[in-house]
Amino acid sequence: MKKIVVAGAGGFIGGHLVKELVKDGHQVRAVDIKPLNEWYQVSEKTDNLVLDLRLRENCYQAVKDYNEVFNLAADMGGMGFIENNKAACMISVLINTHLLMASKDNGIERFFYASSACVYNGEKQSDPENPGLKESDAYPALAEDGYGWEKLFSERMCRHFSEDFGLITRVARFHNVYGPYGTFDGGREKAPAAMCRKVIMARTTGIKKIEIWGDGHQTRSFMYIDDCIKGIHDIMYSNIEEPVNLGSSEMVSINQLVDIVEDIAGYKLKRSYDLNAPKGVRGRNSENTLIKKYLGWEPLIPLRTGMKKTYDWIKVQLEDKNRDKRNIERFNK
Ligand code: NAD
Repeated sequence: MKKIVVAGAGGFIGGHLVKELVKDGHQVRAVDIKPLNEWYQVSEKTDNLVLDLRLRENCYQAVKDYNEVFNLAADMGGMGFIENNKAACMISVLINTHLLMASKDNGIERFFYASSACVYNGEKQSDPENPGLKESDAYPALAEDGYGWEKLFSERMCRHFSEDFGLITRVARFHNVYGPYGTFDGGREKAPAAMCRKVIMARTTGIKKIEIWGDGHQTRSFMYIDDCIKGIHDIMYSNIEEPVNLGSSEMVSINQLVDIVEDIAGYKLKRSYDLNAPKGVRGRNSENTLIKKYLGWEPLIPLRTGMKKTYDWIKVQLEDKNRDKRNIERFNK
């Protein structure tokens, strides 16, 4: 049993990670800035702290007497959020900086940092047939403005804390993650959850139209949350000292993603394309040679399978008038 801190535990990925660590019998301290009643999943077995981790003293409090840290805390959202909140995204640099300092000073044994495919050079993502971004494509650097630059800087800070201070750090570059117990409305949601919500709402209200950001030909890959949690765990306890992709290599266009959701719903919609909406890069996919070399594994849960689970969960939330209270899963085993 280890004593593990999860920063960003009230969020989508953090909530799932805490659940897994508790199941494995670890003692977990779960930390987030949000009030507890806004966390997606809350364990009654963990030490739950509501702290703003941008502040240095709060990071020292968060890691005190613990052995390992997973940093999943960031002010983030889908393309609509990160294109319009660049300064807010960059301020997350304080979270990782202060967590690293606190970890170094408190003898933390291992530190995980959640980076992103947004670190990749934009010029390498102009083709919708993107063969996959390999780790070396982050340099020469031309990251996603705001959010991506913060991630790239924080990756390097992890590397230098390892080199200069001997703190063991592990960095995964997540490619779009989706699944239940995550954001599906309010402006921070990402494409898979947004598509599910739009199709469910259209079906419920009898609307026959769906609006899509961009021309629908832009491509992405999407990783189901269970693959993400396995990847985080296996990378954390590996000997991978460099940032590594953690993403699915099943690339689809946004139109194909909508096809999948329509198929799950059994409901077809007429598509309108908003060419002025935030749409991000033209083509992005995860190239998985490195993770396969190190772990003999890559995320493999098919998009259709994960989207069905996500769709069903969002449908329940939308149908439930008390969803603000009920979408918080409380677990104690
Ligand atoms: P999320 O927004 O659901 O979770 C992030 C959590 O961090 C939130 O609960 C938020 O309240 C918390 N947080 C923000 N500022 C904080 C602060 N000052 N102090 C304490 N907590 C704070 O996002 P997520 O999808 O779970 O993402 C987790 C991590 O993975 C983030 O670092 C994100 O950048 C990274 N990531 C996610 C994706 C994805 O597709 N979800 C892709 C690439 C990278």
